[in-house]
Amino acid sequence: MIPGPVENSPEVLMELGKPPISHMDPQFAEIFGEALRNLRKVFQTTGQPFVVAGSGTLAMEMSLVNVIEKGERVLIISNGVFGDRFVDICARYGYEYDLLRATLGDCVSLDEISEKMDERDYKAIMVTHVDTSTGVRVDVEAMGKLIKKSNALFIVDDVCGTGGEMMKMDEWNVDVVFTGSQKGLGIPPGLAITAFSERALEAWEKRKTPVPSYYCDIGLWKPVMEAYENGEAKYFATPATNMICALGVSLKILLREGIEERVRRHRIVGEAFREAVRAMNLNILPKNDEIAANTLTVISLPNGIEDSMLRAEVRKRGVVLAGGLGELAGKTTRIGHIGLVDGNDVFATIGALEGALQTLGHEFEVGKALEVVSKKLLEL
Ligand SMILES: *Cc1c(COP(=O)(O)O)cnc(C)c1O
Repeated sequence: MIPGPVENSPEVLMELGKPPISHMDPQFAEIFGEALRNLRKVFQTTGQPFVVAGSGTLAMEMSLVNVIEKGERVLIISNGVFGDRFVDICARYGYEYDLLRATLGDCVSLDEISEKMDERDYKAIMVTHVDTSTGVRVDVEAMGKLIKKSNALFIVDDVCGTGGEMMKMDEWNVDVVFTGSQKGLGIPPGLAITAFSERALEAWEKRKTPVPSYYCDIGLWKPVMEAYENGEAKYFATPATNMICALGVSLKILLREGIEERVRRHRIVGEAFREAVRAMNLNILPKNDEIAANTLTVISLPNGIEDSMLRAEVRKRGVVLAGGLGELAGKTTRIGHIGLVDGNDVFATIGALEGALQTLGHEFEVGKALEVVSKKLLEL
């Protein structure tokens, strides 16, 4: 129960166990092409998806480095550790940046963003949909509306959202969206996935300088993606064939369930975890439920309960949770519930947490969280 890598379905694991086929094989071209078309459905865009070998961080880098040039100014909206990672990447590539950073557990207000936008023109504005360190989710739709008033490109880190939270890339005015394979898509780590809008592709075309990263250059990958979508193989760098076949399977599972239904399931599971945390006399880190993600729950620990102790006790009961990140290390425990998570996972996790908290001497009404959860899960 960590926010990635998550459990994989048997169908995905079977696919991964097959012998690798040639990246030039027509059969692979068909699989890759279908995966690209299905990614378009998942991101709800007519833009261009790219799938390359790498992790979410490479997808992040690829999203920035193609559309922003050295010396150009960007606005970074950070709600935690992953928002701050934008800062490091921007500094590394020599971008000028302004940073709006929320207090931990909160998100930056639209007014603050609007004020900054009045002061300056930005080449791009970037935000994390769900920051995996704080469990805070931002309103991408509202932000997109605001950013549309300017010429800035809107870049969204959806690594902890895709496959669990809604993403309507075109309708919400998002120009670049990216994710990794090991979170809501339910395959192992290893794929960096991005999608670029028409405007983002134009920004690449109008560059005055070459993309400073060879592997990340979408100019080199675009003909490859287009060829595969046309059912033809084309080589630039060897694609992670087995992983792409597994991605194909996981996208079919996702679309079989349906995006609306999948988001609804995550919402109910998210609500169940938040109610359960409170029933165990604990609090969540996000300031209110409106900005709390449905893909993970970040528990703000009281004095006297240390994250590593709590997780060790939970682990003895067969459930693996994640620790706090950055400034929140030691003070928060994170429950990931993204991907294939179901009611059984919720019961098992809450049961293990109740047991662990009793062992650690935390005061709460034993059994109440399980009762709360069993009611909530009737909605599933
Ligand atoms: C996991 C994560 C990343 C980084 O992905 P890696 O696959 O670990 O490189 C970036 N942003 C968010 C929001 C994440 O959850």
